Amino acid sequence: MGLVRLLFWIALIAAAFWLWRRLFRKNPGKPRATEVPMVRCAHCGVHVPQNKALQASGQWYCSQAHLERGRQPGGH
Ligand SMILES: [Zn+2]
Repeated sequence: MGLVRLLFWIALIAAAFWLWRRLFRKNPGKPRATEVPMVRCAHCGVHVPQNKALQASGQWYCSQAHLERGRQPGGH
């Protein structure tokens, strides 16, 4: 019975293909942005994630340049 075997193989290949597609499409949810609190740069006022901000004397800064500028007394 060659036809039965042929149908069997077609079904098997189709199932394997379906399974393979399922595995590759498996993408549970989008990568969620980690919830990092936003802080405000004490120099320019821009909001930056806390893990990217720089802290100096209780103030947050968006970059090293602003940190240094912000720390200068009376400097602008
Ligand atoms: Zn800044």
